Amino acid sequence: MNGCVNSKPIAAVEIACLDLEGVLIPEIWINFAQKTGIDELLVTTRDIPDYDLLMQQRLDILKQHGLKIEDIKEVIDSLGPLEGAKDFLDWLKSEFQVVILSDTFYEFAGPLMRQLAFPTLFCHKLGIADDGSVEAYYLRMPDQKREAVKRFHELKFHVIAAGDSYNDTTMLSEADRGILFCPPRNVIDEFPQFPVATDYEQLKAEFIAARAGIHRE
Ligand SMILES: [Mg+2]
Repeated sequence: MNGCVNSKPIAAVEIACLDLEGVLIPEIWINFAQKTGIDELLVTTRDIPDYDLLMQQRLDILKQHGLKIEDIKEVIDSLGPLEGAKDFLDWLKSEFQVVILSDTFYEFAGPLMRQLAFPTLFCHKLGIADDGSVEAYYLRMPDQKREAVKRFHELKFHVIAAGDSYNDTTMLSEADRGILFCPPRNVIDEFPQFPVATDYEQLKAEFIAARAGIHRE
């Protein structure tokens, strides 16, 4: 009876899994650094590959500058989604079940989620002290994007995933179809198996093509 109702196989339904930063919203830390003028926050995983070390450094910098969660939310709120992102997401929701899989934190993404009409978001969590200072971060689990896709497969969904960077490639590989959106050159070269979309119209077309490909199988 696995996956069946009245002994008939369940009809395939696709979940669209989307990365957040670089797909719907700008890179939060980079833009936050630019808005606040704190250059030390421009450091990314390209500069410090050890994510724990990088995050600890970021939290130390926030502390040094006395930035509390409300200050951070205010800055992030002023960023806004990428141009056309809201319309694209509205279209995607009309065609697929949509889940956003991100390595950001709920506290950071919150203000931007409001501007995107609160889509479903799976990401990580910050530890906020009573005085509003950011004192810790908690990852949901290692490689949560890929793990989420695995769980959706167990629930008998098909998955079409789109993302822009290295931290999306395990999700894209695990999905039935993976799409790169505006990726850097090195990611295109290293993962030639994924089609590339460079604007939302192309991304729409890739999602439609991916669904058609799944249905043909
Ligand atoms: Mg991204």
